[in-house]
Amino acid sequence: MCVTFDDAYDNFRTRALPLLEVHQVPVLLYVPVGFILGEPAADPLAGAEHLGALTVDDLRELSSHPLIRIGAHSWTHRDLRRVSATDLSRELEDARDQLEQWTGKEVEDFCYPRALWDAALESRVRDTYATATIGGGRSNDSTTDLLRLQRVSIRRGTEHLAPLLRSPLCIEEALADWFRRRRRTAQ
Ligand SMILES: [Zn+2]
Repeated sequence: MCVTFDDAYDNFRTRALPLLEVHQVPVLLYVPVGFILGEPAADPLAGAEHLGALTVDDLRELSSHPLIRIGAHSWTHRDLRRVSATDLSRELEDARDQLEQWTGKEVEDFCYPRALWDAALESRVRDTYATATIGGGRSNDSTTDLLRLQRVSIRRGTEHLAPLLRSPLCIEEALADWFRRRRRTAQ
């Protein structure tokens, strides 16, 4: 199982991280670059304007945390099916490059904003990232395409936890599998 957080709100650091540390839960944090830079169009969640974003310094620090892996969540958090080819480079490659520059680490994981994607977009994502999450709401198994990892959404209330807890294999196993395969290929 792998826990993922989207959007890089400051309350990830102040509210979630202390609990994750107590329970030693590894997480993947998906970051929309423009939101960190304070670009208003990149505000990821309508109705959450009162919540601040993590800063570049926060990200730098979090990326060295043993429980945290940083992934990309585009630049502007738009529906990427509707952007021009030039803008798409910013959303995919530039977002990855900027995160790598900030953190000094390779960024290989991508999360589609609002889980919106199509075949054309996916082929660009495949060229840029090693893994991507889509919506889906199901669990993953060893046959899951790493560019189509499913996620089970957890919101208020615990009923959403049930399918997650029942699932034998979730994202973490798929990622671990990929790392094992990659290590074998490199040897
Ligand atoms: Zn998001």
